[in-house]
Amino acid sequence: MKKISTKGEDYQKYYKQLILKKIGIIGQRKIINSKVLVIGAGGLGCPLILYLAYSGVGNIGIVDHDIIEISNLSRQILFTKRDIGKKKVIVAKKIIKKINNKITVDIYKNKIDKNNIDQIGKNYPIICDGTDNFKTRYLINDYCIKNKKILISAAINKFDGQLFNFDFRNKSACFRCFMPQIPNDEVNCQSDGIMTTLAGMAGSLQANEVIKSILNIKSKKKGNLLIFNSLNSDFRTVKLLKNPDCKNKNLHG
Ligand SMILES: [Zn+2]
Repeated sequence: MKKISTKGEDYQKYYKQLILKKIGIIGQRKIINSKVLVIGAGGLGCPLILYLAYSGVGNIGIVDHDIIEISNLSRQILFTKRDIGKKKVIVAKKIIKKINNKITVDIYKNKIDKNNIDQIGKNYPIICDGTDNFKTRYLINDYCIKNKKILISAAINKFDGQLFNFDFRNKSACFRCFMPQIPNDEVNCQSDGIMTTLAGMAGSLQANEVIKSILNIKSKKKGNLLIFNSLNSDFRTVKLLKNPDCKNKNLHG
């Protein structure tokens, strides 16, 4: 258990955050000792990782098999032109270490799949999904529900975003309740376009939910879906109900 001394660097660094009554030194210590896995270091993962690192999350895992391309540079704010051709996870780790070299960063260069998800996910109570396809979303959802993880998930398209906070330590609706099967017109940001600032909004909202989960701060978003739009800056919360026909109904009741 890492501690924070009032004379140490961490105390000064996180002072503005730890003087907040709802956080305090004890809360900041929880953040420093937390373990969060980010799946996907793209448009969502980049702002998410930055805010986790700047908040002081002490153990960050990142899964991504992609190489940085020029078309990533409009949204993926961990990367610059000189990183083109490099592995995303390697550059992301370097940036985190620059922000705080005491953060433990574990990187996984393979695409997440049913054969490696148990091994990669086992040490992380909180898992963030920032992937861009439904097949992986279902895989992560099913893994998290089976292993009673907290899953903070976001999805973005054009000007619209969605944010989910599932706490599977309790019986909760899941992503399959919301979307039982892959829609015929599956779209992702490669084919459909995406507003740069929308990615920033969604990744930051994910980081915010992660920190509240670590601190056990009650979140109105838990078990609900937040739908937002970057054009009209509209945010609305929709209650997520358990689907009686959900494939996971034996796990979430
Ligand atoms: Zn379900």
